[in-house]
Amino acid sequence: MNVSDSERAATVLGDSGFEITSDEDTADIVLINTCSVREKAEHKLYTRVGRIRHSDRAMPTIGVMGCVAQLEGETLLRKIEGVDFVLGTRAVGRVADVIGRVLNGEEGIVDLGEREENYDWTVADTHRHSPYVAFVPIIEGCNKFCTYCIVPFSRGRERSLPAPEIVRQVEQLKASGVKEVHLIGQNVNSYRPDRQDDLQDFAGKSAFSKLLRAVAATGIERIKFTTSFPRDFHDDIVEAIETHENLCNWVHLPVQSGSNRTLAAMKRGHTIERYYKQIDRIRNASRDIAITTDIIVGFPGESEADFRDSVKMVEYCGFDMAYIFKYSPRPGTPAFALPDDVSLADKTIRFLELERAQKASQNERLRRYLNKTVQVLAENASTRSKGLTGHSTCHKVVNFSGSTGLLGSLVDVKITEIKSNSLFGELV
Ligand code: SAH
Ligand code: SF4
Repeated sequence: MNVSDSERAATVLGDSGFEITSDEDTADIVLINTCSVREKAEHKLYTRVGRIRHSDRAMPTIGVMGCVAQLEGETLLRKIEGVDFVLGTRAVGRVADVIGRVLNGEEGIVDLGEREENYDWTVADTHRHSPYVAFVPIIEGCNKFCTYCIVPFSRGRERSLPAPEIVRQVEQLKASGVKEVHLIGQNVNSYRPDRQDDLQDFAGKSAFSKLLRAVAATGIERIKFTTSFPRDFHDDIVEAIETHENLCNWVHLPVQSGSNRTLAAMKRGHTIERYYKQIDRIRNASRDIAITTDIIVGFPGESEADFRDSVKMVEYCGFDMAYIFKYSPRPGTPAFALPDDVSLADKTIRFLELERAQKASQNERLRRYLNKTVQVLAENASTRSKGLTGHSTCHKVVNFSGSTGLLGSLVDVKITEIKSNSLFGELV
């Protein structure tokens, strides 16, 4: 979501005549996008602004956007010397106006307002992180309030984009040479547009699975989507993937814990038994679907037995990949009021043990790709080997030999070597 916001800000600024540069040292205006989901982002921001202030360059105009901007608002202007303006998570569309006002001498601008009614979500081709892959937001905000999470506070309530607008964007991206779209949102399975009848021609029990089929019908080569939420993840999503080849065979389904006690304290709304049923359904699909997840260790009150349940869970699920995080209290969230009673040392021990269990099961699982042919989108020339690199439909990084003339093409690669975070292979 943050990358997508940066791309949107660059698009708005480019359209208003600003020249975008990634060279912080020569920029007249520095816009810092922040994320506070897991890290002490405020501290990082402080250091970053301090570094600019103490360098010997002429002082640029500095703006802050993203989660920290939304949560701290005006306080940032007072707390961090050098910050000139603050732009909340839904004010990105007004970035050029705000900068215009700052350049005209207006001081202390803090825009934490809502999105404009006619907010344009498109990103100019030149400002996408890749010419071949594009993010398409389908829902913003979050209403789930998992007790550890800052997102509902920094991103506000859920709002789904109209289906015809999403389909139009995908068609336009396809026409401009994009091969893969990622439908993104904090919880894409909660997609609920105001006008459900826009999707009435498509099969599926939920608006999200209908949307998947509507986007598949555009004929764009590849469609991926993140993030899924176990409570709202229904079988009809798997059915859609089984039916449409261009819906990629990858599901990111964050479980967070293997213990029902911890899941309840996190208010995730799912039990581990229900999660296992979903894993079984995905595993039994007619296509080989890769499953990835997020897990938190050391949530308040997590006992050794709760942690053992997470280890068992990892062994049962055989994830293709898992992001593991040590619980970090976020001020303002419900869990912040609970004692952070798993010591940092124990969090680290649990992190390392879970990582070991995950790596073992991952190495075992990944072996199923050996000598198989996967379809890869050639995205970049590899910096290390002389070949190319890209992602498979199952969202693995694949390195393979090939010339740069292939960039942007979908190619078949036979996997010859498995490493923990990427696959290696030969063009077939
Ligand atoms: N919307 C997604 C992801 C949200 S943030 C979901 O529902 O799963 C991405 C991941 O960050 C979460 O899945 C969680 O594992 C982790 N995370 C969020 N808040 C955290 C916190 N306070 N401490 C540690 N990890 C956290
Ligand atoms: Fe955070 Fe839960 Fe919403 Fe994900 S679903 S963004 S973890 S509150």
